[in-house]
Amino acid sequence: MLAQEINYQLDNHVRMVEIIKQEIRETAHLTDIEELPPDIEQALQKVPRHQFVNEELAAFAYFNEALPIGSGQTISQPFIVAVMTALIQPQKEHKVLEIGTGSGYQAAILGQLVKEVYTIEVIPELSLTAQRHFNECQYRNIFPLIGNGNAGWSEYAPYDGILVTAACEKVPQALIDQLSLNGRMVIPLGSQDKTQMLTLITKDQEGHIHEKPLFPVAFVPFTCGD
Ligand code: SAH
Repeated sequence: MLAQEINYQLDNHVRMVEIIKQEIRETAHLTDIEELPPDIEQALQKVPRHQFVNEELAAFAYFNEALPIGSGQTISQPFIVAVMTALIQPQKEHKVLEIGTGSGYQAAILGQLVKEVYTIEVIPELSLTAQRHFNECQYRNIFPLIGNGNAGWSEYAPYDGILVTAACEKVPQALIDQLSLNGRMVIPLGSQDKTQMLTLITKDQEGHIHEKPLFPVAFVPFTCGD
């Protein structure tokens, strides 16, 4: 990259985080997140989003937009990544499961904040590309799996947080089972033709499940559901 291009990307990157912080404040009445937590701000500032999209789209990487990543899929909008991350309240010692690795960007953000990230992708080419990005960036605490996220990943369960980045009609039971006590899951619920609602699912100390719809979103569909 030329020095001029690097400066352009740095400016856009700083601006992207400022826009996210503003949008977080504006949506606080829907999410109960008043401010973007500083550790999430740092993660967004640190992870190079342009490395998670095709070279031709790199100039758009720091716009607050979803972008195509091939195979009919998209890298989520940065604001959505920020809000979903904040909703699971990540802690340094946490283990988190993501369904829908896609570009790997959401997993990379989580990797800055928690101990281990397990991420499942059903389209092999996307998972392999994401794995290449994790290696290039030397992210060592992200563990990818190619498969159907409908069954979760029982080997490393329970998870303190679960993020589903494709829209489901209903919450897969395996994911509820694999959420720890006091765990938090964020999932877009609804089909592509209906309004999807970003939904916060919490499992309390006694194992009871609580569901809170937050705001409408547009995610690609979850495939291979039951
Ligand atoms: N988190 C991604 C967003 C990816 S879009 C990012 O940061 O880029 C959603 C992804 O979910 C797509 O790549 C899609 O292939 C994947 N997906 C859809 N259904 C799935 C399933 N049943 N199991 C695993 N991945 C699935």
